[in-house]
Amino acid sequence: MLRIMTEEEFKRQLRIRLFDTEVSSPRIGDRYMGVKQINVTLEFTFRSAVLQIPYTIKINRILKSSDKLFLNCECVNPHCTSLGFDITRYLNEALQSRKFVTGLAHCSGKEDWKYIKTSGCSCLTTLNYIIDPEFEDE
Ligand SMILES: [Zn+2]
Repeated sequence: MLRIMTEEEFKRQLRIRLFDTEVSSPRIGDRYMGVKQINVTLEFTFRSAVLQIPYTIKINRILKSSDKLFLNCECVNPHCTSLGFDITRYLNEALQSRKFVTGLAHCSGKEDWKYIKTSGCSCLTTLNYIIDPEFEDE
């Protein structure tokens, strides 16, 4: 039987999944010893198919070893259907290599909920991340 979910139900299920992942995630200090802090720079560029001029939002975050190892950044497009950018693997990469990691991530969502069932209208927001770990013994 095909069950049709409403937008609200769909959003709720996504949020529950995100919450569960965050709750079950270990803390940074559980996996990596001697972490002083991690400087995270997030630069979002929000592009829309309808809004011609992109805009950029820059956010600086400092993570401590008591923070969760799961690092998810919500998309800056308010109508985006995705849960955000999961950059946990890059955080792990930076902590394992003890070096800063940088890169560009693309949003996996649709630009707006009205496009959820179509093949086009992907959210064009990008995230340029810089993850720079500092250790106690450095
Ligand atoms: Zn998005």
